[in-house]
Amino acid sequence: AVANIGVVGLAAMGASLSRNLARHGNTVAVFNRHYSRAQTLMTEHGSEGKFVPAQTLEEFVGSLTRPRTAIIMVKAGEPTDDMINALADLMEPGDIIVDAGNAYFKDTIRREQAIRARGLHFVGCGVSGGEEGALLGPSMMPGGTEESWRTLGPILKSIAAVAEGEPCVTHIGTDGAGHFVKMVHNGIEYADMQLIAESYDLMRRGLGLEPEAIAQVFEEWNKGDLNSYLVQITAEVLHHMDAKTGKPFIDIVTDQAGMKGTGTWTVQTALELGVPVTGIGEAVFARGLSSTPALRQEAEAKGLGGPQAEGAFAALAADPEERSAFIEDIRQALYASKIVAYAQGFNEMEEGAKVYGWTLDLGAIARIWRGGCIIRAKFLNRISDAYGSGEQFGSLLFDPFFKKAVEGAQDSWRRVVARAAQAGLPAPVFSSSLAYYDALRSRRLPAALIQGQRDLFGAHTYGRVDEPGAFHTLWAGDKSEIKA
Ligand code: NDP
Repeated sequence: AVANIGVVGLAAMGASLSRNLARHGNTVAVFNRHYSRAQTLMTEHGSEGKFVPAQTLEEFVGSLTRPRTAIIMVKAGEPTDDMINALADLMEPGDIIVDAGNAYFKDTIRREQAIRARGLHFVGCGVSGGEEGALLGPSMMPGGTEESWRTLGPILKSIAAVAEGEPCVTHIGTDGAGHFVKMVHNGIEYADMQLIAESYDLMRRGLGLEPEAIAQVFEEWNKGDLNSYLVQITAEVLHHMDAKTGKPFIDIVTDQAGMKGTGTWTVQTALELGVPVTGIGEAVFARGLSSTPALRQEAEAKGLGGPQAEGAFAALAADPEERSAFIEDIRQALYASKIVAYAQGFNEMEEGAKVYGWTLDLGAIARIWRGGCIIRAKFLNRISDAYGSGEQFGSLLFDPFFKKAVEGAQDSWRRVVARAAQAGLPAPVFSSSLAYYDALRSRRLPAALIQGQRDLFGAHTYGRVDEPGAFHTLWAGDKSEIKA
């Protein structure tokens, strides 16, 4: 037994993670179902550190020092379950099995329970940053027991991204907490990406700017409040020219956004928890709508009437001052909507923690998202400050910094949403985020009317503003009120 950590599954993610571990002084046992991947890893990168390649799982487990710690990085779903069980059969009480794949947090809760019953530790660990992150430093969100964190913590800290001197990993909470938080991270990522896409659309179709000019706008934005990995790579994508046609790359890509399901999980879970995550929800639906080519073709064939979005802001575009002012409006709208999306995502984590019995340190979560992961951004420092202040608040929107930021941005935000609607440019996350903000601000909501309707057709009862209790009106009778 020589290796302090092992990795099972050596495709893109597992191979990169193994190399990262070895480069940081760990001795890494590596195993893959087909041995050829282990051989390739050794041939190409064996010199980067200490590896112990194993041909069988028995040999792999045998090479690990106690407590044996193995990270699984195989295909999500059944292959992961099979590998967990195979490892558990070979391990001993106190050993640690880590699933670093993209698991649904409820599967992680189930797996943790089963493995704990066998005296082993099971850690579901969210990993963000893709292949490059796994190699150069990901952001990691491990769940599981405190005891497993004592062994795993130093190892994960050795390979995590570093943001402002701190490793981007923290013990999130017990059982499925890590995968839950990774899921919400991905949901926020969907909203963030859709907001950037809506900003692009307003400038491209509305103002008629070329991709190159829009790339420069994003580069400018990246210097301020919006500084983030996603804004930075947006500029890179927009600068890129297609070698085959000489056209901007963005114009030759099919406009159908794919997804692997984590955004959908975030929304499903939010619905179950009763937390409105409208920004994330609209972002998932926008990808869904984009990926219905037949329906969209039919809509075009039917000529669904409406304003011509292309060049809708031509008059603004013609005046350099007005054009700059509108671009600044879009920036402000993006900032405000982004704050709403994060506020909603953090609400989902707060509620999830209550329901699933976790103690989540939201400030620490914001801090480990500052580096390595896809949503890394300067902005997360502010969220960390907000939750780190120790003050309890129901929404990030109530934090003095964010309250002021949204109040300052809202004139621009309203102009953008109104203009987009008038121009026939879809801006679902901009507009739903504003609707959420205004609903939250409203002293009275039309929900009162819904309660009236529900009581009339279904005797669902309602509350009164002037008296506690549940009431029902005898709608079909003399319309008198009874206490339910
Ligand atoms: P894949 O999801 O493509 O899975 C391929 C790996 O799984 C190979 O090592 C393969 O072994 C192994 N495998 C498949 N089926 C079985 C099985 N029945 N028994 C044993 N091993 C099996 O690999 P990735 O590296 O892309 O991703 C690994 C995990 O990380 C996934 O859960 C993914 O969702 C997650 N993830 C991926 C990210 C990414 O950017 N790609 C980001 C974050 C997480 P073999 O070579 O023998 O076929």
